[in-house]
Order: sequence, then structure tokens, then C-alpha cells
Amino acid sequence: NGTEAPPEPRPAAASPPSPPAASRDDEEDDEDFQFLLCEGCGQDSAHPRLLGCLHTLCPGCLSDTKQCPLCRAALAAPAVDNLLFSNLRSRLQVWRQIRSSRGPGCSRCRAEAALVWCSDCEEFFCARCFEEHQWWHKKKEHRFRRVEELRAGSVQQFLEDTKTSCSLFCSSASHPEESRVCSVYCPRCERALCCPCALLDTAHAPFRDLRAESHRRQEELRSLRRDLRLLRGSFEAALARLRGEAERREERRQRLRERVQASAERLQQLVRREAEELQALLEARPEPGRSGLAEELRGAEGTLLRLEAAERLAERLGRYGGEQELMDMQPFVRAALLQLQRLRPPRPPEPREPERFAQCRARLRAL
Ligand SMILES: [Zn+2]
Ligand SMILES: [Zn+2]
Ligand SMILES: [Zn+2]
Ligand SMILES: [Zn+2]
Ligand SMILES: [Zn+2]
Ligand SMILES: [Zn+2]
Repeated sequence: NGTEAPPEPRPAAASPPSPPAASRDDEEDDEDFQFLLCEGCGQDSAHPRLLGCLHTLCPGCLSDTKQCPLCRAALAAPAVDNLLFSNLRSRLQVWRQIRSSRGPGCSRCRAEAALVWCSDCEEFFCARCFEEHQWWHKKKEHRFRRVEELRAGSVQQFLEDTKTSCSLFCSSASHPEESRVCSVYCPRCERALCCPCALLDTAHAPFRDLRAESHRRQEELRSLRRDLRLLRGSFEAALARLRGEAERREERRQRLRERVQASAERLQQLVRREAEELQALLEARPEPGRSGLAEELRGAEGTLLRLEAAERLAERLGRYGGEQELMDMQPFVRAALLQLQRLRPPRPPEPREPERFAQCRARLRAL
């Protein structure tokens, strides 16, 4: 049919050694890549922004630039593009195209089905467009993979391959027309340079190999992560202690509240019982054998009645009685009158009140 099958791709570059199994233990299962969604609203965003607190938000969630809406950290520096997330997102989009039921279409002619993925161009090619691509880039070979082969692999493998195949291009302004791959790192400028640019930047020598620098940064990140994990451990412990203390305080508060309630009830009962006892004390009759004021009062009233009656009878006997009555009754009446004459009016009452009044008063004061 005139179109040649694309040549066999070169074997993929050896993938970097995967981190030791121990360090993977606590890593979350990132299979579904949910972490690429905005941590604020959960929406997909093509331009996620990374905050100083290392939370990632979509531009829509970043209205309050003074404070992270998730952890409330104050944000001194403005947010930056989260290149890791946006690039990973586009790589995953490529992967989804590869795995889609119809397969990816050619990025150039947009007519044919794609057979090859060029990771330098980051484009899909049909057989004919790929031929053209190979002719165009015959000077510097591009790394490419067959779509079929990628499709058979896993997403992890695809991401691993695209990670190692991405080239960093020199951003120097000295050669705007030509994109050159970086291979040198200038520690003074803190950026990657292409070889010719490094030759011009003589004042900053010695330079580092870009791969070595990248490896060093990986190592540094790994050791920072280890320190962070330790720090997180101590924060978690401190948080647990704080929570425990808060719980204990709440328990103590609750116990005290119950004790206050119980004491109040006990006191109420006590006071009520005391009041009843005091009432009873006030109403009590004097003990037998000791005369009370009320008894004395009754006695005096009775005596007064007897005196009045005696006086009246004596007077009537004198006024209306004849000899007969005087002879018969006088001795009896006289004896009764003589008996009455021996009576003496009661002494004025003592001002001292009964013992139990004082008792009652004292107990009231004690209450
Ligand atoms: Zn958002
Ligand atoms: Zn935050
Ligand atoms: Zn094409
Ligand atoms: Zn290419
Ligand atoms: Zn420099
Ligand atoms: Zn350059």
C-alpha cells in the first residue's frame, strides 16, 4: 500500500532503580490519581497551583491568597504552577488516548490512526506522518514507542518511560531559534544549561553534570522526606497527648459537675430535714415535771374564776341568807374562803425563754 511499517523502536532506556521496598511501605496507592484533583473543590484543573504550605489548589479555590483554605497556613510567597501535577495530568491524558477503545489518532494529519508515540515531540504519528518525522529529525534521533506496545503495558510503566524520556531544553536567551537539550548544571545560576551556553558562562565554572545534580536533588528530597516522617510522628504523638489531655479535662469537668449537683441535692435534703426538726422543736411540749408558761397561765385563770365565784357567793350569802342558811352553810363557805385566802398570785414570769428557742436559734445560725 506504499506506506512502510515504522522501524522497530530502540529499546527503552534502562529505567532508574526503583526505590527500596521499605520506603514504599507507607506510600498511598496512587492508582486512580485522585491527588491530581484540586484539594479544595475536587475538580480537575489544567493549571493547578502549588501553595507555600504545599497544598495544591485550582485557580478558582485560590481567591484568598493570604491564607491556605485547607490548613489555614499564612501564605507569604505567591503560589506557583504545580508543574508536576499539570505534566502528569497531560501524560495521563496521553495514556487515556492510548488505552481508548478507538486508539489515538495521528496528531499531525488528524486522519489516520496513530502507530507511534514520539516522546520528544510528545505527539502521535500515523505511518506516513512518522516517515516524514523521521526524515525531518534524521540528525538527532527522537525516542519513540509503538502505540501497540504501550497499550499492552501498564500505566506505571508508561509514566516511568515518559518520565525518563522527557528532555530539559536550555532556556537561555542566546539561542532563541534553536532548542538545545541541557546537560550541564550551573550551581551559581541554579539552572540547567546546554553545553555551548556553559562554555560561555565561564565565570561560573565548575559546573555539575545535570544527571548528577538531578540525582543529588532526588537524594535530598528522600532525606527530607525521612526527616519529615519523623517530625510528623512527633507531631502526631503531641496531638494525641493534647487530645488525651482535652478528654481528661472534659471528664474531670463532668465529674465535678455531677458532684456539685449531688452536693446541692444532699444539702437541700439536709436543710429540709433540719427545718422539719426545728419546727418540731418549736412545737414540742415541755417535758413532764417541769411547768411551762402555758400551764401556769391556765392555773392562774382557774384561780381567778374561783376567787370571783367565792366573792359572789359570800356577797349573796350576806345579802340574801337568813339564820337558817348562815347556820348551815357558813362553816363550809368559811373553810373554802380561808383556803382561798392562802393563795398568792403567781410571781411575774421569768424573762428567760425556753432552752429550745435558743437551741433553735443556734441551729439556724449554723445552717
Ligand atoms: Zn478548586
Ligand atoms: Zn495548606
Ligand atoms: Zn498522520
Ligand atoms: Zn519526534
Ligand atoms: Zn551560571
Ligand atoms: Zn543554551
